[in-house]
Amino acid sequence: MGKKILVTGGLGYIGSHVVVELCAAGYEPVIVDNLSNARASVLERLERLTQQSLTHYDVDIRNRAALETVLERTPCAGLIHLAAFKAVGESVEAPLKYYDNNVAGSVTLFDVFERAGGGGIVFSSSAMVYGDVKVFPLHEGMPVQPNNPYGSTKAMMEQILADLVNAPGAKTLGLSLRYFNPAGAHDSALIGEDPKDRPNNLFPIVVQVAVGQRETLTIFGDDYDTPDGTGVRDYIHVVDLAQAHVMALRELLNGGFEQRFTALNLGTGTAYSVREVVSAFEREMGQPLPQTLGARRSGDVATLLADPRAAAQAIGWTAQRDLPDMVRDTWRWAGAARQWGLWDDDDSAAAP
Ligand code: NAD
Ligand code: UDP
Repeated sequence: MGKKILVTGGLGYIGSHVVVELCAAGYEPVIVDNLSNARASVLERLERLTQQSLTHYDVDIRNRAALETVLERTPCAGLIHLAAFKAVGESVEAPLKYYDNNVAGSVTLFDVFERAGGGGIVFSSSAMVYGDVKVFPLHEGMPVQPNNPYGSTKAMMEQILADLVNAPGAKTLGLSLRYFNPAGAHDSALIGEDPKDRPNNLFPIVVQVAVGQRETLTIFGDDYDTPDGTGVRDYIHVVDLAQAHVMALRELLNGGFEQRFTALNLGTGTAYSVREVVSAFEREMGQPLPQTLGARRSGDVATLLADPRAAAQAIGWTAQRDLPDMVRDTWRWAGAARQWGLWDDDDSAAAP
């Protein structure tokens, strides 16, 4: 068996794809997820996909005693920390809920991991740490100046991790991965984005419109300073993202970074407008998508585009999948999820 890696949030959208790639690379994932935003059936689908039996602890990362027990029972060489709340709008309404789960939770988790012997920590950060910047592409040397509570929790956790690993005698090394806009699903269609509440992101909203759960897609403004006036984002396939975690972890555990703490962008370096994403879906589905032009969404920026060169240099990673891949895999996953009744009104519908 390969090295054990603790994966918090391992049953969530990105975490489930990370678990698959860890298994493929010969690591043994140990999943901690309290199911606050995931279905228990993800575990069964992951076992089907990976053809191996997986360990999952239904534990909250704020529960120190439970985490200590997990690490005593299954000592781990690395930690990939994805568990967090992630809705920007909700973080403005309920900031303390976000500081408690994301920041307080991470402090407890990092402390327990370091005291248990330490190792490599890969942390899920976000392009949100850059805030409302108007210069593109974004590179890691740019100032961290988030402009909403969710982004602040990510910036704080990066700082906390950096301080932890630079403390005298620290046994842990840290790496922060700043994701741009994750999209797509595993091409097996066994796992994908499965929002419990009303989604806020473009891809899952487009899917809801396409399957008739929503009447129309509201395009949030077409008067931005972008080629077609709609918002432009650097969408990255979730499998590319997951593979970057494994490459980063390997490098971290091999002591391959110059600094004890490093932050890397994960994006493709190519960005698409809302209209381009919609057209790609229409091509895939072979039918038009109902859409309405609306006002700008408060807090939105015109463009988010990564400079991905640092990740290429540090861990040898570049994205391999493009927008049509993301759209095709999202649509395939949506078909499977509907077939299994995952998105029926009755939440108790049997999952595969
Ligand atoms: P997700 O909600 O699908 O996954 C998060 C998982 O963590 C869920 O399964 C949830 O049940 C679990 N969780 C939450 N709080 C927990 C706690 N206190 N204890 C144990 N488990 C807990 O979200 P995702 O899209 O997979 O995001 C994963 C990470 O990536 C998050 O840290 C998020 O902030 C970050 N991120 C996501 C995006 C995105 O667009 N999806 C972009 C940038 C960064
Ligand atoms: N968007 C939109 N309608 C929606 C949801 C999103 O026009 O219903 C736009 C949004 O304004 C942005 C892009 O799609 O320009 C990506 O939005 P998402 O919420 O997915 O990512 P984020 O804004 O967090 O980068």
